[in-house]
Amino acid sequence: MRTFPPYRSQVVAEIPVTTRAEREQALAAAGYNAFNLPANKVSIDLLTDSGTGAVSTAQEAAAAAADRSYAGSDSFYRFRDALRELTGYPHLLPVHQGRAAERVLFSSVLESGRISVSNTHFDTTRANVELLGAEAIDLPCAEFGDLDSLEPFKGNIDLDALERLLSGPDGARVGQVLLTITNNGGGGQPVSMANLAAAAKLARAHGVPVFLDAARFAENAWLVIQREAGYADKTPREVAREAFGLVDGCVASLKKDGIAPMGAFIGLTDPELAQRCETNLIATEGFRTYGGLAAHDLDRVAKGLQEVVDPHYLAARAGEAARLARQANEAGVDIVQPPGIHALYLNAGRLLPHLTASRFPGHSLACELYLAGGIRCVELGSLYLGTLDEQNELITPAPFELVRMALPRRVYTQGHYDYVAEILGDIAKNPEQVPGYRIVEAPKILRHFNLRMAPVH
Ligand SMILES: *Cc1c(COP(=O)(O)O)cnc(C)c1O
Repeated sequence: MRTFPPYRSQVVAEIPVTTRAEREQALAAAGYNAFNLPANKVSIDLLTDSGTGAVSTAQEAAAAAADRSYAGSDSFYRFRDALRELTGYPHLLPVHQGRAAERVLFSSVLESGRISVSNTHFDTTRANVELLGAEAIDLPCAEFGDLDSLEPFKGNIDLDALERLLSGPDGARVGQVLLTITNNGGGGQPVSMANLAAAAKLARAHGVPVFLDAARFAENAWLVIQREAGYADKTPREVAREAFGLVDGCVASLKKDGIAPMGAFIGLTDPELAQRCETNLIATEGFRTYGGLAAHDLDRVAKGLQEVVDPHYLAARAGEAARLARQANEAGVDIVQPPGIHALYLNAGRLLPHLTASRFPGHSLACELYLAGGIRCVELGSLYLGTLDEQNELITPAPFELVRMALPRRVYTQGHYDYVAEILGDIAKNPEQVPGYRIVEAPKILRHFNLRMAPVH
């Protein structure tokens, strides 16, 4: 199928253009931490695909006509109906963002001493499990560990390990199985329908509820259509509906595949669990017909959910990621294979072999992309996942040193991505010139957001 992005720019936002000297100054002032950079010093912002998508004229028109009634607003019914058509779940609760959905659901399902098991818990997801005194266990499939392997579903959960856990001595402590689609913490790789079905069956056989963390349900559906036997003729909506139907419910940030600046939801089949979540929601987020969201957010989501399952949109978006992956490879930069959709993960460890893990090659490459081209992205390596001693020296490195380039929805054109590839190519010509970094200051909790670093020349 030949495709093109099925939308055009109607209103545009100016991109800051900076000099290298300005960027050097801005990055030093930010303590060499991209989270501290003011956005007006960033040209191409690939920090996240969350809440950064471009909204459509249809979304803005709906937002302008939103109904702000406290209870039972029209906007809520449009939100609920869009989600019901998509998921089939009878119980749907709006929540302001994904991590709040996690908190509300998990506090009704887990408690101290219980276990949450996942293909990979996202960082806030893990934090919400641990804040309850419960334990978060990741069981990614074996192929996940091989960055170069072209296996189509490296986001899968390890079914044998799940079975062993459920029927082993800790089995009785398992409070939920949570399947993240696509597997964000696991390189953005998809989960197959066969894996979802088998994991759900195992969980049910042990009386454990199983949920999706469905932030990228549409992108997972698209990759299933491309890669899994028996799905080529289905629509993204059909595949997503089938995935939701395999499990007992979901939490989902709508800042990703809702293509909305803000929003999330909890979907459930069990009325009793839904009632407990609703009570918690009303006490902590908002009434059940707005859940901490403004009415215009509910309406943007209702439209965004229709736009995101358009196969032309998904084909163009997947094509964009695949093209940038190819360009990176041609420039001599390896990425985690096969490319997914929402982000590319650059193998910084391999590009910068002169830097040991304790000099944080992923962070070095991310800083270099900013200094050379005003491109902002984030390290996923020892800085984020490694363990440090009291002097902030690295004790245990992460298994990989990666940089995540997240691709916001409908925001950048091929021209922007060509520029990103050119900058990457410039860096890859003289990788040994890229300096390492050391930690100057690191808080104990959520350290990657608040670190201060310095280059080591
Ligand atoms: C973004 C994300 C979340 C958290 O959602 P927020 O809306 O950012 O709070 C949870 N899980 C996954 C897989 C995500 O990508």
